[in-house]
Amino acid sequence: MQAVILAGGKGTRLRDRLGDLPKPMVDLAGKPLLEHQIDLLRTHGFTDVVLLLGHNPDSIRNYFGDGSRFGVSIRHIVEDEPLGSAGAVLAALDALDETFLLVYGDTMLNVDLQRFWTAHAASGAAASLLIHPNDHPFDSDLVEIDPAGNVVAFHAVPHPPDRYYANLVNAALYMIRKDALAPWRDAAAPLDFARDLFPRMLQAGQRLYGYRSREYIKDAGTPKRLDHVIADYLSGRIGRSSAATPAPAVFIDRDGTINEEVNRVSEPGAFRILPGAAEGIRKLNRTGLVVVVVTNQPVIARGDCTEAGLREIHDKMESGLGDAGAFVDAIYYCPHHPDKGFAGERPELKIRCDCRKPAIGLVTQACRDLNLDPARSWFVGDSETDLLTARNAGLPFVLVDTGHAGRGAMQAGVPEFVAASVSEAADFILGRRSPQ
Ligand SMILES: [Zn+2]
Repeated sequence: MQAVILAGGKGTRLRDRLGDLPKPMVDLAGKPLLEHQIDLLRTHGFTDVVLLLGHNPDSIRNYFGDGSRFGVSIRHIVEDEPLGSAGAVLAALDALDETFLLVYGDTMLNVDLQRFWTAHAASGAAASLLIHPNDHPFDSDLVEIDPAGNVVAFHAVPHPPDRYYANLVNAALYMIRKDALAPWRDAAAPLDFARDLFPRMLQAGQRLYGYRSREYIKDAGTPKRLDHVIADYLSGRIGRSSAATPAPAVFIDRDGTINEEVNRVSEPGAFRILPGAAEGIRKLNRTGLVVVVVTNQPVIARGDCTEAGLREIHDKMESGLGDAGAFVDAIYYCPHHPDKGFAGERPELKIRCDCRKPAIGLVTQACRDLNLDPARSWFVGDSETDLLTARNAGLPFVLVDTGHAGRGAMQAGVPEFVAASVSEAADFILGRRSPQ
């Protein structure tokens, strides 16, 4: 399998760390960032590596040579003038395989590349973009996908104040089919993938797939970001982040836990985030715990809210959390309800399912999709139903007394901890608070 790395960057903002070296040569805990990338590529079987070089190419050529010292085969292609990310790839197209992975030389990552490759092949798309939530969606360019995962729009900053978007950001890691790029060979450079080519491909009717990931991938292009990445590397967080490694998670209920319990939220206006919820989720995010919302939404079966309406509510939730520097990795909901016979209901959803809490279908689905480790995971909720779900799934349970249950009125068992908010729940889960 082939990987192409955009390694031409000058790294002006990292000048103090780099001297005259190109950006991918910046030292990250004892070796160049580019060497970390090549180690990851080799681990996942991407042993044919093409380096697209620009600034000071000899420093990279001299260090990596033909790649044999690193267990891969390396070809070096030098561009005479900066062509932009897409321009550089288009200029090198003849040297590339039918499908290739494109890596940006200033990102640190630990992604299960085999899994990404397989998902791209199954999608049949022209290109697949790795997308993920971040802690500042308000000033990030966002990607909108449909329920099948196909990209339907790119939303560049600034975002209009009266619209909410899901927190999905282009992480700058792509699987690309060469034949899909061929029609663009003669497009004028400089040309950037995210800003120019992908929007044009979408407009021309080419299919782009959004591959959602909970894994670590961050740009290290400024001194501050580089220092964050180095700290994450030294703490072991990056090493643990691959989807190939089972991850601990916190499953969290929605109504009454993250947002105010009102009588069935069926439109975004009724959705208000509770004090401490965003702060608590942010604390969990910062330690690398995966955060998954699991919620019963019988409003769908009742016909009070459509799937599209529910997406809008969730977009508002993600925007509100994002404004406070917090994000959820995934949202799972049950649209069903067992009791038939009401006006306006959707009979096909009026069924006994295995996903309506306290059944554990949502939890097991998330564990499968995201490779989560239930033995190291938690459940946070406000109701007896949540406690039962946690018990059925074998998860320790933290009750927040913001919604339904109130302190101690549980028939089904005793929570591990009763918290006043998600923030307090997070402190307990992270070991910063003792049981009462
Ligand atoms: Zn269900």
